[in-house]
Amino acid sequence: MTSWEPARTTTGRGRIRWIRVAGLLVVIAAVAAALGHQLPASSSSTAGSPTDVLRHEHRGPLGEADGAVPDGTTVFDDEIPGVAKLNADLLGALRRAAADAAGDGVQFHVDSGWRSRAYQERLLREAISKYGSEEQATRWVATPNTSAHVSGDAIDIGPSGAAAWLSEHCAGYGLCQIYGNEPWHYELRPEAIDHGCPAVYADPTQDPRMQQW
Ligand SMILES: [Zn+2]
Repeated sequence: MTSWEPARTTTGRGRIRWIRVAGLLVVIAAVAAALGHQLPASSSSTAGSPTDVLRHEHRGPLGEADGAVPDGTTVFDDEIPGVAKLNADLLGALRRAAADAAGDGVQFHVDSGWRSRAYQERLLREAISKYGSEEQATRWVATPNTSAHVSGDAIDIGPSGAAAWLSEHCAGYGLCQIYGNEPWHYELRPEAIDHGCPAVYADPTQDPRMQQW
């Protein structure tokens, strides 16, 4: 028996249950509408991706000094800490790739680069509240101890056209996608120039580096 069957009855008890169900649906719809309203309608990078949502929800005292990057930031923006604090070799490879992509009419934007521990902690807290558990959250957001963004060794590239360009050419620059569920996330893998990129992990929980908490 499903919860909908009482709606078809004409007994008083059935009606009351139906009214309760209907009321609950109204509440759920209102909550969903409120949540939906907070989400960006679209974005310069992969629309609706969890990191995207988290990035746009970033509020409060954490600013550029913690690694927040303004819209339109490029890998050449030295004055932005989220770019300047990236590993120098990673940044060099990204700039070579970005220059060649520009020749193909594709512009790289930095959706996220280096992040402070405080920024990472906030992203993780937000992800736990969004996904309901630490276990689910860590499929998408690393801890401050494990995040390659905190160590300056990872960048999230947007928009999706730029990530697509890079996915075709990345190995030649020693850049590799690491996670199947994060096509925008790149790290430096110099050996890829000669040997190609290693197989991607399905998501960060498959990455041995993420096993520490
Ligand atoms: Zn990333």
